Amino acid sequence: MKQKCSKCNHEVNKDMKNCPNCDADLTKQRKIATFGCLGFVLIAIIIGIWFFSGESETPQLTDAEKRVQHIENCLSAWDGSHPELEERIKSSLNDEESYEHIETRYLDNDSSITLITKFSAKNSFGGTLKKDVIAEINNNCELIEIIQWYE
Ligand SMILES: [Zn+2]
Repeated sequence: MKQKCSKCNHEVNKDMKNCPNCDADLTKQRKIATFGCLGFVLIAIIIGIWFFSGESETPQLTDAEKRVQHIENCLSAWDGSHPELEERIKSSLNDEESYEHIETRYLDNDSSITLITKFSAKNSFGGTLKKDVIAEINNNCELIEIIQWYE
């Protein structure tokens, strides 16, 4: 492995004691480099401790944040869809296999949650259409009813 003499920048061999170009003491230079390295590790450890001590404090969620978390728990972590509503939509299609979820948004009504699911599917003529379904779920994530279909 090669390294450079910090005094003259001449390339020197790792196990040389003195620089062949300027005769500088290379062992001294290595000690300084090692110390610099240790200093860096020490800083990394301090930052690590500081980071993890901050992390261990349990975050206090506000009621609004808890509510958002509750609603989002009703929806698939994968694509944000509502599984029960999705099953209901699929069962009404000519071609269940062609169903593709696009997005699901929600409106919070406190006592229930309104879902707006956008999806695409093939119709009986083989054309692809996009539809919006508006549905309502209760606070236990259960589907109450489909309110409206939009094309
Ligand atoms: Zn040198």
